[in-house]
Amino acid sequence: MLNIQIDDAGTLHCAKCGATSFTQKRTFASKAVLGVGALLTSKKLKCQACGTYNQTGNAKPFTGQSAAAEDDDAYVPTAEEADDAMAEADARLAKIAETWETPEEYIKRVRGQRRKR
Ligand SMILES: [Zn+2]
Repeated sequence: MLNIQIDDAGTLHCAKCGATSFTQKRTFASKAVLGVGALLTSKKLKCQACGTYNQTGNAKPFTGQSAAAEDDDAYVPTAEEADDAMAEADARLAKIAETWETPEEYIKRVRGQRRKR
């Protein structure tokens, strides 16, 4: 995950292509609470130009060039891969929601199992 870049004027730039238009994923925080995965643990901005997810919270100075080019180890998912990851996360979230118990239901079930022993 690339860290988003910020220029002297305070404008955010995509770390991959330098574009300044992003789509905010507001659902990340609630998914992270349910433990869906490390991918979703912090707010990310999706570049509207190239589809790259930019990590927020640790912005780097905008250099006008690709952070990925500077860092050979940086893995940049394609827009398709990013969408796949989101779809997978959604599927896992749906699975969790399917089997979700309220705390009261959980306590009732656990107590019921104890009584059987
Ligand atoms: Zn971009």
